[in-house]
Amino acid sequence: MTFEDIKKLDDEYVMHTYGRYQLAIAHGKSATCYAPDGKAYIDFTSGIGVNSMGFADEGWVAAVTAQLHKFQHISNLYYTDPCVQVAKLLCEKSGMKKVFFGNSGAEANEGVIKAARKYSFQKYGEGRSKIVALENSFHGRTMAALSATGQSAYHNFFFPFVDGFVFAQANDIDDTLGKLTDDVCAVMMEMVQGEGGVLPLEKEYVQAVYKACQEKDILFIVDEVQTGIGRTGSFYSYQQFDIMPDLVSSAKGLGGGLPIGAVLFGEKTEEVLVPGDHGSTFGGNPVVCAGAVEILNRMDDAFLAEVAKKGEYIKSELLKMKHVTDVAGMGMMLGIELDTDVKPIVNTLMDNGLLVLTAKHKMRLLPPLNITYEELDKGLAILKETLEKI
Ligand SMILES: *Cc1c(COP(=O)(O)O)cnc(C)c1O
Repeated sequence: MTFEDIKKLDDEYVMHTYGRYQLAIAHGKSATCYAPDGKAYIDFTSGIGVNSMGFADEGWVAAVTAQLHKFQHISNLYYTDPCVQVAKLLCEKSGMKKVFFGNSGAEANEGVIKAARKYSFQKYGEGRSKIVALENSFHGRTMAALSATGQSAYHNFFFPFVDGFVFAQANDIDDTLGKLTDDVCAVMMEMVQGEGGVLPLEKEYVQAVYKACQEKDILFIVDEVQTGIGRTGSFYSYQQFDIMPDLVSSAKGLGGGLPIGAVLFGEKTEEVLVPGDHGSTFGGNPVVCAGAVEILNRMDDAFLAEVAKKGEYIKSELLKMKHVTDVAGMGMMLGIELDTDVKPIVNTLMDNGLLVLTAKHKMRLLPPLNITYEELDKGLAILKETLEKI
């Protein structure tokens, strides 16, 4: 099908919940993808941080295909090999104790919310169920995840939302500590607010809130859906803040391109859920997990150091470019502040063969973590030339 054929059917049959760019992707390899007409694009989006190893990575395709030839699904009524392997690797790399599998970031956040509330209910009874989330956060599109999202633009139409979320100002220690009242069971935050505009939290702030939470037995939840799986240069971003969360949600990059979400439980919470408390038909799917095992096996210290190094390299190149006033973020999760409107630039970049993201008023880059310097330089050259002409 041509782009026009695809667009026509999309217009007619697909619910219009996305403002799509005028481009369809037909195939890809590494960090380059191709439109139906054969035009090539360097991909600095990874499908929003999902394709950790780029398009059609050989090892990942082999792992997924091998599992497809064995069996595709059996349900969580039975044990499977890929699922337990992912769980083991996640625990080893994070220091967490147990894993529950779902299929998306929002679902992982539903899981951490349920787990936090049950932990508190069992220990302290009713009336201690509030969760302090941050202003400008993003936690997903399901009802509880939306309720935890600290942006009023999302709190519309779908009333009633889930009760019991309170919002604190990111990087404001006094404001956040003031909200840790006796009815609070957990705080929940992204170490780098992604959709909110690529805004990293300050270490001093995170540690102060973490310490207060430990003193009051308030669970500390980190949403690592976007920041996790090597994206920031450590396996999880919280590892750069010297804290050990009680609950972690993970998704996007974990499956290397197939849908997976995970809730990670720490020492305090590892016994909190029992048979019947939570579940998912597709959760822990063997094909998806076989791909995740491949991704996780390759994410050793040398790989993570390379992500950090590439992130620094991208940042230093960006700071030399016209119109760039600031670059924020960690590792290969970067938000670029421009002295001009970002939206039209994204379309021009697309015309010039480069795909980038936005986050609020910023340009956001989430390149595949294993992108080669050759592809990286090609993309950066397109960005540089495009900005020079504005
Ligand atoms: C993308 C994202 C989510 C939602 O993930 P979905 O897979 O779209 O449900 C939740 N939290 C953060 C921080 C995200 O970036």
